[in-house]
Amino acid sequence: MSASIDWRARAAALPFNGQAFVGGRYIGALSGATFDSINPANGKVLTQVAACDSADVDHAVGVARAAFESGVWSRMAPRERKKRLKAFADLICAHTEELALLETLDMGKPIRDSLSVDLPLSAQCIEWYAEAIDKVYDEIAPTATTAVSLIRREPLGVVAAVVPWNFPLLMAAWKLGPILAAGNSVILKPAEQSSLTAIRLGALAAEAGIPDGVFNVLPGFGETAGRALGLHMDVDAVAFTGSTEVGKYFLQYSGQSNMKRVGLECGGKSPNIILADAPDLDAAATAAAWGIFYNQGEVCNAGSRLVVEESVREQVVEKVMAVGGAIKVGDPLDPATEMGAMVDERQAERVMEYIEKGVAEGARLRMGGKRMAAEGCFIETTLFDGVTSDMTIAREEIFGPVLATIAAKDIDDAIKIGNDTTYGLAAAVWTRDINKAFKASSALRAGVVWVNCFDHGDISSPFGGFKQSGFGRDKSLHALEKYTELKATWINLG
Ligand code: NAD
Repeated sequence: MSASIDWRARAAALPFNGQAFVGGRYIGALSGATFDSINPANGKVLTQVAACDSADVDHAVGVARAAFESGVWSRMAPRERKKRLKAFADLICAHTEELALLETLDMGKPIRDSLSVDLPLSAQCIEWYAEAIDKVYDEIAPTATTAVSLIRREPLGVVAAVVPWNFPLLMAAWKLGPILAAGNSVILKPAEQSSLTAIRLGALAAEAGIPDGVFNVLPGFGETAGRALGLHMDVDAVAFTGSTEVGKYFLQYSGQSNMKRVGLECGGKSPNIILADAPDLDAAATAAAWGIFYNQGEVCNAGSRLVVEESVREQVVEKVMAVGGAIKVGDPLDPATEMGAMVDERQAERVMEYIEKGVAEGARLRMGGKRMAAEGCFIETTLFDGVTSDMTIAREEIFGPVLATIAAKDIDDAIKIGNDTTYGLAAAVWTRDINKAFKASSALRAGVVWVNCFDHGDISSPFGGFKQSGFGRDKSLHALEKYTELKATWINLG
């Protein structure tokens, strides 16, 4: 990142577009309604965004369905889809600075992270599925020679992608890559707190040659646009990332409408287990700090429960506080800023309520715990010690920079604590003993278990939850399973 760029000046000159993108062009909501897009770092209105509702959903689904049935994308040769998706990824790269700025202004994350994490990973994700799709073979079943059974994967049709605000572009990319590569039409509904990068993608997709009507963006509120997509009789699948509470709504919507497929990537309360024999306690504690404070703690797989063996607890806690306390919190447009603003006032208040509950229920507040500036949604890096698994801060997803430290007697106790949650998105264990590492990774009920690291990954490795963290997987070739139907064609040769 060029430290010499004046991001505040660039932000002041940035054009904003708050319209929906349907059928290859930008349009307002049919009702004309809009809502404010607010910069959480200073409370100022960035622009007006189209408040799409069920009428817009009807319109967009019709357009997406027509594009799908026309075959312009769904029957295009995979190699040709690859070319256009690669062009889409290239355009995202070419617009890195603009998109990173939009992301930062819209949801408060540091510009350094938007530039170095969200943008490159989003482009890489689209490119990976582009590269994969002309290399995935179908199957022939081992039947008797009197018949041939072709087992093929077909695109589903119209898929709605409903995404959250914490990684607006990256969570959208995890859906768009496999949905589009498989030949579906898509309607992307960004979270109301963070619509701007999704909207900007519309024009880039069109420029890349993705045909009109295949890629659509409908900004709007969850209770209106999101709900209408979930209940629509002509949407074949919903790809959802967001809270467990709303994930459950989508299951209901499906049952109340056309039994559409639902893929759910929901919340988490991930245990980061540090055992006394960790290969490097300093490295483990540093990773524990970043595992909760990165992205303001607004990370689904954040290591929000630090489960640490009692004999090294104080040493680890002190190091986590040293690292966490030194994190530079402030203006997201300052390239030196390491932790930005909470996404909005509501989320900041929610986090503060959890901190108050932690104190009230008897946890020891050892660091932070306060709002930071008169203006904007900033909260200090916060650490609780002496937490027990029955406390609210150990059970509920806070989605903020708040770490709950729980002492464990030994590995068995740590695993028991780790699994004492309704969630199952991720977990980590730090130990130099391969037997303990394998034991923990087998016993922990989570979609990903890290050994001697935290939050590492690659687009080739699947990501998703056990238990109430959801089902279905993003990333990797497994994601294609969510967006394709398996069809057997039985050819009688007799
Ligand atoms: P949210 O559930 O409030 O909203 C997610 C999306 O659902 C938004 O687009 C929203 O508009 C829509 N929505 C809200 N209410 C709705 C309703 N009644 N009907 C239909 N749609 C509705 O989540 P959020 O606050 O935007 O994001 C934070 C949550 O996302 C956290 O729980 C976090 O763990 C989760 N998350 C999970 C993953 C993962 O991969 N598992 C990744 C990122 C975030």
